[in-house]
Amino acid sequence: MKTSRRQLLKSGLLTLGGFAVSPHLSFSESWRAPATFSKEGNVLYSPFFEEYIHEAFPESKVVLKAKLNANENPYGPSPMAVKAHQEGSLMGNRYAWKDLFKLIEKISDKEGVKAENVMMGPGSSDLLEKFGLVLFMNGGNIVSADPSYMSMIRVAESVGASWKGVKLKDDWSHDLEGMEKAIDDETKLVYVCNPNNPTGSITDGEALKEFCIRASKKAPVFIDEAYIEFLPEKEQMSMASLVADGHNVIIARTFSKIHGMAGLRIGYVVANESITEKISKITRGGMGISYPSVMAALASMEDEKFQKESRAKNTAARKYVCTELKKRGYDYVPSVTSFVLFPIEMKGKLFLEKMTNQNVGVRSFKIYDQDWCRVSMGTMEEMKLFINALDTVLS
Ligand code: PLP
Repeated sequence: MKTSRRQLLKSGLLTLGGFAVSPHLSFSESWRAPATFSKEGNVLYSPFFEEYIHEAFPESKVVLKAKLNANENPYGPSPMAVKAHQEGSLMGNRYAWKDLFKLIEKISDKEGVKAENVMMGPGSSDLLEKFGLVLFMNGGNIVSADPSYMSMIRVAESVGASWKGVKLKDDWSHDLEGMEKAIDDETKLVYVCNPNNPTGSITDGEALKEFCIRASKKAPVFIDEAYIEFLPEKEQMSMASLVADGHNVIIARTFSKIHGMAGLRIGYVVANESITEKISKITRGGMGISYPSVMAALASMEDEKFQKESRAKNTAARKYVCTELKKRGYDYVPSVTSFVLFPIEMKGKLFLEKMTNQNVGVRSFKIYDQDWCRVSMGTMEEMKLFINALDTVLS
């Protein structure tokens, strides 16, 4: 029997990178199940937000010619990572501990922290969920932007926490002042996705650093840096150095984006030992990562040429898409990431169906009363298919 997308969602096997919107400093305080559905079958994250679901998707006979719905890197994994992965499969009878530790050391050197500060996971989702589970199992609240990436928030809510969503500012950056005000005695964690998903926007690094230093005195501040590597190298302002300086800050990184290894599942957090110990008491860090993936990650870190090329090609695709959107009058959200969000004048569900019928996969959301499309950056050829499909569907 085939499992529908809706069943997958209900079973929690499919995580949606959805988002929710509420008025400035309006908090959704009530407990909610992981996914609530509207009568039309859309996922409701809050009264202000829906994610449109293409019901037929898993069973669909349509073969996507441009898969632009999951912020994947079309160029990865790097050839060096592929080779290492193949060789790593020969070690498949062993647990990966020894080489996993090599990877931890390599990451701790890169981030300028001790090995004890690094916790690995099969993708950063795994760690976002573990943090959500462990830190909120006795309730409390989580403060984040609204909209933002929902993985940890949904898990926290599912185990009894409430979510305090703070609207982004007009320029789509985090309202750090508003978020600081939202922290109270019950706040167990502040989640900041920078650059933010699903908007693709960035919050100024200096302002964020100051916020982290101040706010982390009240509650741990978790910075999800999944897309930071798509910024020009000089502009990548990670908050990892704050961990080295002893602040109660956690950063999350993934090999799924710039390294193009979404299917190989590797991510990590850098955090204070007091926090990693808390999580490790209940769950195990690197246990879910396969030996070949550890080897692939070690190799990929060495392949800087691949990362540079990925970044350059992503930037070129984004420039092309934004230029074409602008020509057609779409007021897209300025993006520094591997995806672009723009408003559409069509019901999101219908839009998804029509785009899928054009063999193009995208995501669609409703924020306030506006429908939006989120398109991931693929190859230039895929982006041209996307623009052609958009012209057919929306003209
Ligand atoms: N954080 C953000 C902001 C994301 O957009 C994603 C995936 O799209 C993740 C974390 C999870 O990535 P992964 O589990 O593949 O490392």
